Amino acid sequence: MNVKTLAQAISCLDDYDPNALPVAHARNIIADCIAPVTAIERVPVRATLGRTLAEDVISGVDVPAHDNSAMDGYAVRHADLVTGDVTTLRMIGTAFAGRPYAGIIAAGACIRVMTGAVMPPGADTVVIQEMVTVEGDRITIPAGQEAGQNRRLAGEDLKRGMPVLRRGHTLRPAELGLLASLGATEAGVYRRLRVAFFSTGDELVPAGAPMAQGQVYDSNRYTLYGMLSRMGCEVLDMGVVRDDPAKLESALVTASANADVIVTSGGVSVGEADFIRELLAKLGDVVFWKIAMRPGRPMAFGRVGSTLFFGLPGNPVAVMVTFYQFVRDALLRMMGRTGDISLPLLQVPCTDRLRKKPGRTEYQRGVLRRTSEGQWCVSLTGAQGSGILRSMSEADCFIVLHHDQGGVNPGDLVSVQLMEGLA
Ligand code: AMP
Ligand code: MG
Repeated sequence: MNVKTLAQAISCLDDYDPNALPVAHARNIIADCIAPVTAIERVPVRATLGRTLAEDVISGVDVPAHDNSAMDGYAVRHADLVTGDVTTLRMIGTAFAGRPYAGIIAAGACIRVMTGAVMPPGADTVVIQEMVTVEGDRITIPAGQEAGQNRRLAGEDLKRGMPVLRRGHTLRPAELGLLASLGATEAGVYRRLRVAFFSTGDELVPAGAPMAQGQVYDSNRYTLYGMLSRMGCEVLDMGVVRDDPAKLESALVTASANADVIVTSGGVSVGEADFIRELLAKLGDVVFWKIAMRPGRPMAFGRVGSTLFFGLPGNPVAVMVTFYQFVRDALLRMMGRTGDISLPLLQVPCTDRLRKKPGRTEYQRGVLRRTSEGQWCVSLTGAQGSGILRSMSEADCFIVLHHDQGGVNPGDLVSVQLMEGLA
């Protein structure tokens, strides 16, 4: 993959305006500046949960390994069955899952089979037990049985030599099971990302400390901790750093020496950014943007040394929105995820009137509900100020109002991004 410098990524846009940057442009610039980690580690299958596969997995076996019965019933030779009439066969034995029948099924014979039992040589069809009449060892089967019915074929799930999982795939519960079904005990995954984060602001007090007039508890470090941990990052919490050039410089130098990514909150808005701007120009290559979005307008992005840097705004909702819309994608790519990582946008009728001007993207906080007719619809959580963290806690989705879109009337379809899939 070709990783660009910030200047190269920016020069790809013919109408770059750092003071009114559309969300899509910011995303493109960030995507161009990112390289996945390369180090690989082999870990036990259970420890791969949530990690990204670093190698293709090829099946060394057929799954299932043998033709087997999909139902409880009787394994028969289809050629023995009389067309258009009942057939009576002689039952000569039983096969259980894990305990095959040792013999061969000769003409006129059948065996009792349980679900998962290996099909005995000769038999090709299973008649379910509910259909037959049993008198001693005489099994009478009605007409109309299809050849091969109720039989699972060897390799129908996975064939030997077939690529089962591709590099770049995220390992979820299904993949853990799939690996185990191949007999694998471990898999190669990319190493975890190391992400350092801190809050900036002279007004911030850590939770647990006494609070004086004009101070606020630092909540951003907790939301950041939660979002980063749910993504499976190794986190380095560097606490609250005062708006003091020397303290910030030392924090940034330490963070860049120890992490792949630095995420900070606060200090990037107009009026605050001046000394940070100088500091970051000295330590790395960082641009300050006003993004055409709400919430989350100010944001800084670039590199400190070789470490990626995201300077998120200080407002508690803006931190979360900018994290989900920009940082999340960058981290997923750095973790080695391939394919489409964008979140699905569902179209749902909105119950509220939403005011919105074209020319910026808005991420309003919504709650999905069912109407009395059972249809899904979305409503606002209430006050949408970028400092009102409660609006995030009450929400289960973002109502995404696109860049060129205007206001919304009740009943209009809006795009909705579910929060549950975010990490
Ligand atoms: P800033 O981007 O630094 O100008 O901060 C914008 C607003 O967010 C101010 O009202 C700050 O007090 C608030 N804020 C900044 N950082 C935090 C934080 N870590 N936790 C809670 N609120 C914060
Ligand atoms: Mg501040």
